[in-house]
Amino acid sequence: MIYKRSSALFTEAQKVIPGGVNSPVRAFKAVGGDPIFVKSAKGAYLYDEDGRKLIDYINSWGPMILGHAYPPVVDAVVQKAQKGTSFGMPTEIETEIAALAVSMVPNIDKIRFVNSGTEACMSAVRLARGFTRREKIIKFAGCYHGHSDSFLIQAGSGAVTFGSPNSPGVTEGTAKDTLLANYNDTENVEALFKANPNEIAAIIIEPVAGNMGCIPPAEGFLSRLREICDANNTLLIFDEVMTGFRLAKGGVQELYGVAADIVTFGKVIGGGLPVGAFAARNEIMNHLAPLGPVYQAGTLSGNPLAMAAGLAMLKALNDDPEVFDRLAQKTEYLHKGIQKALIDNGIVHTINRVGSMISVHFAPDAVVNFKTAAHGDNDTFKKFFHGLLEEGIYIAPSAYETWFITDALTYEDLDTTINAVRKVASTL
Ligand SMILES: *Cc1c(COP(=O)(O)O)cnc(C)c1O
Repeated sequence: MIYKRSSALFTEAQKVIPGGVNSPVRAFKAVGGDPIFVKSAKGAYLYDEDGRKLIDYINSWGPMILGHAYPPVVDAVVQKAQKGTSFGMPTEIETEIAALAVSMVPNIDKIRFVNSGTEACMSAVRLARGFTRREKIIKFAGCYHGHSDSFLIQAGSGAVTFGSPNSPGVTEGTAKDTLLANYNDTENVEALFKANPNEIAAIIIEPVAGNMGCIPPAEGFLSRLREICDANNTLLIFDEVMTGFRLAKGGVQELYGVAADIVTFGKVIGGGLPVGAFAARNEIMNHLAPLGPVYQAGTLSGNPLAMAAGLAMLKALNDDPEVFDRLAQKTEYLHKGIQKALIDNGIVHTINRVGSMISVHFAPDAVVNFKTAAHGDNDTFKKFFHGLLEEGIYIAPSAYETWFITDALTYEDLDTTINAVRKVASTL
């Protein structure tokens, strides 16, 4: 048993933490076995409690786009910590990171920082409702926008993996204001607008979906949503918690050339500390307290350590114009290598990729929405996951997750991974 210490730690954790984890996607429920406990990480590698080194394709579910323990981020946090860790009063660094984020992302004038992606999406929807004075929202099946009540309706990876796409505890009153649409299906969206005239405050979408595997928007899908929103005085919210500062400096808005009304961030923007943010043009953001009537707050929002980490991360990305291309090239290389290894072994599969997000589906047809993502063969995935783990490759323990490529990965690491996939594929 190579995971002796991890398993012992998991036993202790389960006594005092529900399921032994503080976020359910960390458990290995979907693939079987005990989760691996991490001791430390550096660059592209995790070092676990049993002394093994793993090549990491989760990267804290996205934030570590430049690798673990990235020195500029670590230095910034250490230096800040020595000057006090929280004041509940304004600090200069909040303006610095806000100005940098606003300069990098199109169509936003102001940004407010919160502590998680969940908070960002929850606040964005409240703001949209306050701004439009309407109550309903549209979300897409398989998209995840955090665990706030309105979003736990067909909520993608985590919720689906654990068999509760619609969570108990969400009231019917709340659920009825969330209208569900199919990803990449504009007719479906149009029908919802017809059935709910002048009632829809916002459409919220992962503009490149990452929580049912990676699913790109079909050609013209996002621009059609933009038109529908404009025609109905509805706000378009891009949840860029996963894609923001990952697919391009300006995220999906820049990559696909479609403007959102409100954008939410998380993951990369915090450089590995707990940070989320939401942003929009002045007209909308000025509706927030203390300027406007929509209330939103946070004792630790804009926390100096979190802002220092986020600022160091955004600076690094902003100062390196090649980084997003380099990441996309590494991801393409991995894509081609995995594809060849699977084809050579006769394994039925579909690989989706956008920039540095990639997912491998053991499904025969194109994966374009939640339904087609769910066609994947879970038994094959389980064997694939555990096989790769044996080879020292760590991917997410669920068939509904995207792999996150970090710039710390070398082509040697990618070749090691491709060879591992080839070896495992021969056993599937
Ligand atoms: C991770 C994620 C969230 C939630 O962010 P948390 O920081 O986990 O609360 C929201 N939306 C998307 C698209 C995400 O990937």
